[in-house]
Amino acid sequence: MPDTVAYALARVQERIDSACRAAGRDAAGVRLLLATKTQPADVVREALAGAPAGTVLIGENRVQELADKAPALADLGVAAHLIGPLQSNKINHALRALALHGHACVETIDSLALAQKLSARVVGGPLDPLDVMIQVNVSGEESKAGVAPDRALDLAHGVGELPGLTLRGFMTIASPTRDEGTARAEFALLRGVRDEVAGSGAAGTAQAQELSMGMSRDLEWAVAEGSTIVRVGSAVFGARPR
Ligand SMILES: *Cc1c(COP(=O)(O)O)cnc(C)c1O
Repeated sequence: MPDTVAYALARVQERIDSACRAAGRDAAGVRLLLATKTQPADVVREALAGAPAGTVLIGENRVQELADKAPALADLGVAAHLIGPLQSNKINHALRALALHGHACVETIDSLALAQKLSARVVGGPLDPLDVMIQVNVSGEESKAGVAPDRALDLAHGVGELPGLTLRGFMTIASPTRDEGTARAEFALLRGVRDEVAGSGAAGTAQAQELSMGMSRDLEWAVAEGSTIVRVGSAVFGARPR
């Protein structure tokens, strides 16, 4: 048992619970998203056995991998999140795969043009309305996807007005730092964006409360700064081959 993925997932859930206790937060306010990249569907199913039914989400980075695994996972009724970049020419492919799961979210909206195209394809289809989040580049690293923090409010206002999309919140990947202060400042920046948007009173923003932030290395710091979804891969599946 101790070296199974289900056991590892249960240990991660314990890390989340104790981070919530330390922060004085209700553990029900933080969901675990299992980042399943490169893991075959049967291993994902094994891992999910370590969690009470319906408590864990799954996240895929690549549309093709999402599509390949969806038929083998859809019966679980687990919500599927796209956590990697969405190219316009992959929108239909992504929507077909997400529709198999039924519950879905695209966490990586980083431009109004992308959101408009997604909106147009969602309206009237099986996923209407589709949950989305805006990815924000809190570290400022050029290699990172996401909108700049000072552009996030405008983008959120634009997305909030689009039919077929429900803006649920914001997602980020912090710097790969071991420095708690640096990481927490980045997570706090995302929280500030969320508070500004959700408090703006603009159309379609009041429910934009989710903060998808924190990974295997930094989930405790993210929870301390208000994360509502932590995305964890390697702490469950082991280190990925590079
Ligand atoms: C892989 C991945 C994660 C999980 O990272 P780990 O370090 O393996 O926990 C989280 N978010 C995104 C966007 C990822 O690609």
